[in-house]
Amino acid sequence: MNPQVKMPVLFLGHGSPMNAIEENEFVQEFRKLGRDIPKPEAILCISAHWETRGTHVTAMQKPPTIHDFGGFPPELYEVQYPAPGSPELAQNVKESVVHTEVGLDQKWGLDHGAWSVIKHLYPSAEVPVIQMSLDYKNAPEYHYALAKQLGKLRRNGVLIIGSGNMVHNLRLIDWRRLNDEYAFDWAEEARERMKSLITGGDHEQLVRARNLGRAFELAIPTPEHYLPLLYALALQEKDDVVTFFNDKPVGGSVSMTSVRIEAN
Ligand code: ZN
Repeated sequence: MNPQVKMPVLFLGHGSPMNAIEENEFVQEFRKLGRDIPKPEAILCISAHWETRGTHVTAMQKPPTIHDFGGFPPELYEVQYPAPGSPELAQNVKESVVHTEVGLDQKWGLDHGAWSVIKHLYPSAEVPVIQMSLDYKNAPEYHYALAKQLGKLRRNGVLIIGSGNMVHNLRLIDWRRLNDEYAFDWAEEARERMKSLITGGDHEQLVRARNLGRAFELAIPTPEHYLPLLYALALQEKDDVVTFFNDKPVGGSVSMTSVRIEAN
């Protein structure tokens, strides 16, 4: 790829695994996005659904499709996303990160945080995909600093995707209101404040978001769906513009808000 091309960075709100097979406005936006941005040489995905001790990247040639959820219809378990892996990119990530030792993993694959969204961007599964795990032992500051070391990959044709949900509280979800864009007051407050901090480039506050009061505590009861957002934001450069899409609540306590970071 032309080294002048700087790939965008994305944070994708993945929501329910059913988005992998349902037709709705969110997946339509993902498809549009895939057509809109420069075609990557490879994808590095940081998914909410791979938490490990230490930081690892998938390094196999053929990552299996992992169905890491329960209680969904059989069609969802039949979905395969046969994108190739990229041992080269895994090695490249390992060498780029001096902050910590990055392990090369041969056991994971693609979890639904990765495939349920990437399949809409690249339905033919021709772009190689690797995942990087979230080290659950470490604080948000660690993840933000780690992500900063991945910046040069953007000029090597690598599309970096954080996949989670910036507001994500499954314990409080109202299953009767999945389709009517309903949000609890605290969820709305957290979503609006997060967006304004993102727009204002106030990453320092976003890194310590769980200390910003009750709305944030409820929006981020556990860190794993929020941290992928910090990975994306850490990669924002001065001349990048940030835009939102799929900016809607689901079931009261989840937000599908997705972020696109790209050169102006
Ligand atoms: Zn999830």
